[in-house]
Amino acid sequence: MAQDLSLKYELVMSDQLWEELRKHLFPGDHDEHGAIIAAGVAKTDSRIRLLARNAFLAVDGVDYIPGQHGYRMLTAEFVRDHVLFCRDERLAYLAVHNHSGRATVQFSLADLRSHERGYPALREITRNQIVGGVVFAQNAAAGDLWISDGRVSLESVRIVGRNVEEIFPAPPATPREAPITYDRQARVFGDRGQAILRKQRVGIIGLGGVGSIVCEYLSRLGVGSVVLVDPDRVDATSTPRVVGSSPWDATAGLSGRERASWFRRFFARLARLKVDIAAREARRANPAIEIIRHASSVVEEQVAISLSTCDYLFLAADSMQARLVFNSLVHQYLIPGIQLGAKVPVDPASGKIGRIYSVVRPVLPGRGCLWCNGLITSDGLQQEALSPEERKAQRYVEDDDIPAPSVVTLNALAAAHGVNDYLFRSVGLRVPSCSDDYVFIEPRTGAVRLDSPRRDSDCPECGAVSASRYARGDGCSLPVSTRERHKGWSRLGAG
Ligand SMILES: [Zn+2]
Ligand SMILES: [Zn+2]
Repeated sequence: MAQDLSLKYELVMSDQLWEELRKHLFPGDHDEHGAIIAAGVAKTDSRIRLLARNAFLAVDGVDYIPGQHGYRMLTAEFVRDHVLFCRDERLAYLAVHNHSGRATVQFSLADLRSHERGYPALREITRNQIVGGVVFAQNAAAGDLWISDGRVSLESVRIVGRNVEEIFPAPPATPREAPITYDRQARVFGDRGQAILRKQRVGIIGLGGVGSIVCEYLSRLGVGSVVLVDPDRVDATSTPRVVGSSPWDATAGLSGRERASWFRRFFARLARLKVDIAAREARRANPAIEIIRHASSVVEEQVAISLSTCDYLFLAADSMQARLVFNSLVHQYLIPGIQLGAKVPVDPASGKIGRIYSVVRPVLPGRGCLWCNGLITSDGLQQEALSPEERKAQRYVEDDDIPAPSVVTLNALAAAHGVNDYLFRSVGLRVPSCSDDYVFIEPRTGAVRLDSPRRDSDCPECGAVSASRYARGDGCSLPVSTRERHKGWSRLGAG
């Protein structure tokens, strides 16, 4: 992999792994302790993320002993075992220790010299994986990474969990005052919170009833960059629920029920793309926003890769395939995400309406996934892979042409809950007792129900078991399809 000295390097880990590491490094004895992190690697145009997959804690006096040059060192055996592990698993190797202190930290001269003595050889043994050292203080971290082109410093460590927190070698400079436009909300989130939003890139999969509202909220909040994914165009039924759409976008006057079906189909192709409408609205709210548009399906490889560069993901498309790709992105790249939807069950025989609900499901690295919770199933994926004709023949669905019920207010509830999750998590305002349960809001009963997601410890998607996708970054392929195999998807889209 080509590496670059000008990129920013960041270490990302789940808050569970950080907790484990923190307890080991800072047990309260004010002494030095050691560990090794094995990490996947994810590269974008601007940064390289090291994704912590395993932490191996060195036992004091056994694996971590008095040093020949410095105060303490990892034993040769401990290093060898884990260097070979990183070589075989194709993961970056990071030797970790701690210094005393709180808000600032740096390597000692003895630390840096030991890197110079040891790391060139470790690079060779790992067959050119990234090799490096990371030193932690209670609330600071610094890293010295050895890459193909030379040697770089770690910019920050990002901890993803209840909140997304970043620690640096020294406290970052006070951000400049938020623009007056954001004065009212900066009074809640602070100038620092507003600066975080401006720096972030957020992905939205599906720009229909729920996703168009999410996009509106994010752009009004001052989020710096969005990746929009939806292959569909609006139609005559869109204006009541797709934010920003007008009857003109849908060529609605030309596609009414009184027209012949060939005529309606013809004009449907001239209707505006949902990603274009969302982009237009986002720009209206914030002319400075960066917008990356994909008028194609999330199962296409380049779309999924584009989403892998995001800081947070919204899933607002209701297909198994979309769930599959979203779920993989969360766990493979350690990107927090949320699935949003609204359901209006209608009994096909009697036409009776059942339990209506808006639903919000946070999906976080290492906290269980959509597979563990039965929300992705092999059966469901197989059914979706069939053509509409095959599906009809097998009576999986009554009729593909009957659209699902959808109401703007139900969508808005899910969207607002979801964006609150993103917002408070990203600026670090969620309190320790807050919950990551699934939330169901039921307007017919006034009830709000919670459901705790489960986690299978040996899940091949979200577990850290061998061969799982967890934190592998670019080292493992996403469950995407080539264009050739999925002609059906592009037919749904811009074509
Ligand atoms: Zn040291
Ligand atoms: Zn799972």
